[in-house]
Amino acid sequence: MYGLKAIVIGAGIGGLTTGLALRQAGYEVEIYDRVRDLRPIGAGISLWSNGVKVLNRLGLSQQLAAIGGQMHYMEYRNLSGNVLNHISLQPLVEEVGQRPYPVARRDLQNVLLEAFESAGGKLTLGTKCIGILDGFRDVTAKFEDGSTAKGDLLVAADGVRSLLRQYILGETVEPKYAGYVNWNGLVPISTDLAAADTWSIYVGENKRASLMPLAGNRFYFFFDVPLPKGTVNNIANYRNELKEHFQGWAKPVQLLIDRLEPESVARLEIHDVGPISKIVKGRVALLGDAAHATCPDLGQGGCQAIEDGWVLANYLSSTNLSVPDALRRYEIERKVRTTEIVNKARNRAETIHGKDPEVTQKWYDQLAQENPLDVTKAIAKIISGGPLH
Ligand code: FAD
Repeated sequence: MYGLKAIVIGAGIGGLTTGLALRQAGYEVEIYDRVRDLRPIGAGISLWSNGVKVLNRLGLSQQLAAIGGQMHYMEYRNLSGNVLNHISLQPLVEEVGQRPYPVARRDLQNVLLEAFESAGGKLTLGTKCIGILDGFRDVTAKFEDGSTAKGDLLVAADGVRSLLRQYILGETVEPKYAGYVNWNGLVPISTDLAAADTWSIYVGENKRASLMPLAGNRFYFFFDVPLPKGTVNNIANYRNELKEHFQGWAKPVQLLIDRLEPESVARLEIHDVGPISKIVKGRVALLGDAAHATCPDLGQGGCQAIEDGWVLANYLSSTNLSVPDALRRYEIERKVRTTEIVNKARNRAETIHGKDPEVTQKWYDQLAQENPLDVTKAIAKIISGGPLH
């Protein structure tokens, strides 16, 4: 199915990856985003090997190696700073054949955007999609400013609060609160915070504090705290509330709170979506968080959006009955994979954040006894379920 045109709504990780994959498959691609300036929400993201493999296949291996952090170990510590488990990631890399890359979201977005535009893709900003007209031969996106765009298919990659999800489902599905708040940002690497080649995770009191190395001598950090929905989000409070929530925790956690710059910290209530009953209708496909926003506790939401883009472009370029037929095949394959990931990530979020404090305590105990190889095997299993083995 060459010479066809795709309209993509949303220029996040999902929309840009899909746009690039479709351009490489010979499609004309137009991406539209409602914002005037593309600014990712959040500071960093870990691209696990399944996401990296797809981006490698899209020709981005060198760019990723340049922006990826050198993360060779994972380390769990209790809130006093005592090591619970120290895990080499080398067995994981050997099993799955590709190292993971923690990256700054801004760097990843620049890489994807540059690749998409160099491949001849067209991005239009400041254009909010407000509706879809799905015809027999084509599909039309309607925008708030009265303009329209017509294509052979439409990809709705409009994020966790997707407006277009309703078009597919015929009803509104509200994102579900995962019960905790996440603060994240970047600080310079410094060995009094953590080792520069290690993902360090402090756990205790159903909370987490974490530091992950990125390229450019930066740590991506985050804090998780279980809180009711709707707590006040005020930049002026960030340092104080973190000091309060992490009172008595180890020295590096205190230093991190002292060093972070509140103006560049994101504070988010974490939500997921689904699993939902369908992600395709006619010539329209949901993709990424719009289809399956995932608790970040497996670090897989963005990787799933990347896998979606790859699988969609593959069906559209390797089958030739019709666009709706290719989209149905995409739906069948991706629903199985993403349903498993959304459910697993939700379970993991509940274990980490004390939904049942006894379960969380058991997890802390298990961390101290677990064979590091079992940890890397569990991560490898998730990675190996992706489309590129
Ligand atoms: P988004 O990035 O949300 O992009 C949607 C785009 O659509 C936006 O640019 C928006 O402006 C645009 N848009 C929305 N509505 C409209 C409209 N009506 N018209 C036009 N444009 C519109 N994933 C990982 O793989 N690894 C991690 O380590 C990881 N960590 C995470 C940590 C946190 C704290 C969070 C919250 C998430 C994390 N994730 C992680 C998940 C990951 O961030 C998301 O899965 C990913 O960003 C989803 O990308 P997307 O393109 O589907 O959606």
